Amino acid sequence: MAEPSRTTGQIKAVCLDIDDTLVDSERASREGLRALVGTDRAWQVWRRITDEHFGDHAAGDGDFDATSAARTRAFFAAFGHEIDDAELARRESDRMAAMRRAWRLFDDALPCLDWLRATGLRLVAITNAPSAYQRRKMADVGLAGTFDTVLLSEEVGAAKPDPRIFAAACGGLGLRPEEVVHVGDRLDADAVGAVRAGMHGVWLDRRDTGRAAPDGVRVISSLFDLPELLVCDLPAVPRPAAAPAVVGEVVGLSR
Ligand SMILES: [Mg+2]
Repeated sequence: MAEPSRTTGQIKAVCLDIDDTLVDSERASREGLRALVGTDRAWQVWRRITDEHFGDHAAGDGDFDATSAARTRAFFAAFGHEIDDAELARRESDRMAAMRRAWRLFDDALPCLDWLRATGLRLVAITNAPSAYQRRKMADVGLAGTFDTVLLSEEVGAAKPDPRIFAAACGGLGLRPEEVVHVGDRLDADAVGAVRAGMHGVWLDRRDTGRAAPDGVRVISSLFDLPELLVCDLPAVPRPAAAPAVVGEVVGLSR
């Protein structure tokens, strides 16, 4: 492990969640559900059964394909429908293909990442997900080479909000928690988890719910808001020497 930085109070790295932070994963999952049954009207049932089967995608507990198949079988069973193994395999294959075709970055993801990269801050992905599945998703959307470090819960052996995965990020960077910001769409798992681990926690409330966040948690509703937050509200984030043009366009400064 690298020697911890001696500089205090200065932000040195930004960690980002992947699903529904950079990648519009809910939209892709809905497309998968449409491929499975022709509609996403039962989205809430699908999500509940998914949560029951996968939980927080914690540490390497089980076979991802088998768990996916069991989830889909349970979904059909919830509507009183039994499907045999061959039909299940065919439908799962169609669902996965549809979902992969639908994986997309949010519009604010690349401009924000470009800005962060231009600051010289180190970038880390911290994601609760099965490793092979998540690495394939990141490659599909063009994120394979974006981060200095990628921390996957299955590989770390702990899932957000477990402080061990945040500590692993800081330790791997040789930084103290107060020098690291974590940004994610889940208030508890991402932002509160990061704050409890001693980091700066930012909740990306994409639906702009107005829900109050606990003390210490900063809130943004778009990644376009992250540069301002980092420069204005957090200690000593370096401004990029030349802001990427697309960020200048967002704030009306370019050209
Ligand atoms: Mg997420």
